[in-house]
Amino acid sequence: MINIGVLALQGAIREHVRALEAPDVNIIVVKKAEQLEELDGLVFPGGESTTMRRLINLYGFYEPLKHFARAGKPIFGTCAGAILMAREITGQPEPHLSIMDMEVERNAFGRQRESFEAILPMNYVGEDVESVFIRAPIIRSVGPNVEVLAEYEGEIVAAQEGLFLACSFHPELTDDNRFHQYFVQLVRESLTVAAAE
Ligand code: GLN
Repeated sequence: MINIGVLALQGAIREHVRALEAPDVNIIVVKKAEQLEELDGLVFPGGESTTMRRLINLYGFYEPLKHFARAGKPIFGTCAGAILMAREITGQPEPHLSIMDMEVERNAFGRQRESFEAILPMNYVGEDVESVFIRAPIIRSVGPNVEVLAEYEGEIVAAQEGLFLACSFHPELTDDNRFHQYFVQLVRESLTVAAAE
């Protein structure tokens, strides 16, 4: 079995658990930093990035999460989760965890479009991936080792850097599990590579 955690400080947890389900996957709701030790991969859900950051500090998650990322373990951040991962946040002096080489701008789709749905083509995932955007960030730019997986009206909304995945939207709020299952596959492959080393 592989162990995939969902960081359960805030936000939609149950929906991620459902989307990650697979016969070989044990899903762990992560409420304590010690639980990170048993994980092969981790999901950062959406919610409110500033609140999540406060809770990360309050519950002693900051260093353990940095360590998890430095160890090269797969991480998938959705919406606020992607903001936590960014190396740079537009207009803010400091990033949060600075895990992925990208700049994100919070709430960047504008007030009149606080939430909307779209069907997007996404590299490796599918031609028609259902995506729900809620006060979503835009990925303004990515570094040379980051691959853009999807765009919406010319704006980057999903990206991958090695075993790190980020998206602006909420794939867990639809019945379309393909993006989560793509992450599960990345986790499986990371273990095969680690075993061969
Ligand atoms: N606007 C939120 C933030 O800045 C993200 C919204 C979401 O996760 N749906 O953290």
